[in-house]
Amino acid sequence: MRAQPQASHFINGAYVEDTAGAEIDVIFPATGEVIAKLHSATPAIIEQAITSSLAAQADWEAMTGTERGRILRRAADIIRERNHDLSVLETLDTGKPYQETSVADATSGADALEYFGGLAASLTGEHIQMPDGDFVYTRREALGVCVGIGAWNYPTQIACWKAAPALACGNTSIFKPSETTPLSALKVAEIMIEAGAPAGIFNVIQGYGDVGAALVTDPRVAKVSLTGSVPTGRKVYAAAAAGMKHVTMELGGKSPMIIFDDADVENAVSGAILGNFYSSGQVCSNGTRVFVQKGIKEAFLKRLAERLENAVIGDPLDPETSFGPMVSEGQLNIVMNYIEKGKEEGARLAFGGARIDGEGFYLQPTVFADVTDDMTIAREEIFGPVMSVLDFDDEDEVLARANDTEFGLAAGVFTNDLTRAHRVVAGFEAGTCYINTYNDAPVEAPFGGSKASGVGRENSKAAIEHYSELKTVYVRLSDLEAPF
Ligand code: NAD
Repeated sequence: MRAQPQASHFINGAYVEDTAGAEIDVIFPATGEVIAKLHSATPAIIEQAITSSLAAQADWEAMTGTERGRILRRAADIIRERNHDLSVLETLDTGKPYQETSVADATSGADALEYFGGLAASLTGEHIQMPDGDFVYTRREALGVCVGIGAWNYPTQIACWKAAPALACGNTSIFKPSETTPLSALKVAEIMIEAGAPAGIFNVIQGYGDVGAALVTDPRVAKVSLTGSVPTGRKVYAAAAAGMKHVTMELGGKSPMIIFDDADVENAVSGAILGNFYSSGQVCSNGTRVFVQKGIKEAFLKRLAERLENAVIGDPLDPETSFGPMVSEGQLNIVMNYIEKGKEEGARLAFGGARIDGEGFYLQPTVFADVTDDMTIAREEIFGPVMSVLDFDDEDEVLARANDTEFGLAAGVFTNDLTRAHRVVAGFEAGTCYINTYNDAPVEAPFGGSKASGVGRENSKAAIEHYSELKTVYVRLSDLEAPF
């Protein structure tokens, strides 16, 4: 098997196997070929991971931030040196085109390790002056063992976005990748050791939802960060709440993109393509409800169709390919059902809409026009290459419609009216907003959702608050009086 790792799990600096765990077949979505066979973690593996993570934590936290940061930055350098191999593996695991994985996956993970590695040395508490020479100081302390649970769309990125801030703050990290894409996180774990990380600070264990649930409910785990769907988020949040654990929730969305008449058509079409078809539409923040003002509608749809013809659909390992398969047959079927629903409910199929014959889980990039707010395809997260185009007349109306959803992950506006752009983003009920661009996620800026789309923020200095806590210390230098 062409991508078989040494073993399923990476714990305490070494590969570990327990064949008693349920089998996980790893499938290359472009061909359906089984490329690796792994095992879900047994209770013994989960125990090993938690014990090793707990044992490593105190010494890791006791290191200076400079030392911890140096290790993270070294890991980032190694990831960059191996970007080609890691990108090929990511393509095999997810089916995403190498054209994307070579610039957006391992490299984004390296960015996170480098950024948080750089911050580690400057994490401090503060000193607060009180009357009579008394003072208060705060210590920024690690939380302990932090669990990360990943989705299948950005496996390397998600592993690093969760591990890097956790480790920078002196925590240890246990990562459970999605069962659909378990391979690349193991490489990150190997690279951490190579970079000089002490054994046990970053462990990777595989498994289905039950393994995630076992980690979340273990009383020795201090924090859980999940990237996944809203239904899973509700379960994980509730389980974490029972143990009063810290949480970060990066969940799903049905984000709006508003295109006003005065927008540059070419840029708006680029935004709609980036926000709907990158990674074959399997991006949480995608702007899948594209509200187009009536005056620009025909020009927008015409250019969109012309440019979609240019998508190169094929073998994702070929650097020329710009549009790959869906991650799995299951996901393909979910998306096909939504396409059928769109047709049944009266949306006009303006582009694509069909499965592509042959092996692999390929689907055409798909656009529905004349979509109305009540249609299923305009309300539910599809997580595939399906864009809904909705008409609108004026700003107040479209903003109310854009916000009329339980989700609040992202939102975008295309207009050349500067005042309107800022007014509209101020009105969006979403955590991550875009003006004349879409789906940027640099590590320096906070990323996350509001409403049902999430809790907390990843990336940027904001993530530090979610991976550490402040201890407040009151210090009295003057005599202490008491009432009796
Ligand atoms: P999912 O919710 O099915 O699974 C996510 C992870 O949770 C998997 O690792 C799974 O094994 C685990 N899991 C399932 N049940 C669990 C439980 N009870 N306890 C603990 N862990 C459990 O999501 P998916 O299908 O892998 O990914 C797609 C979803 O992820 C979409 O909704 C997408 O929008 C979302 N997503 C969000 C972001 C973001 O940053 N906001 C990024 C990528 C994907």
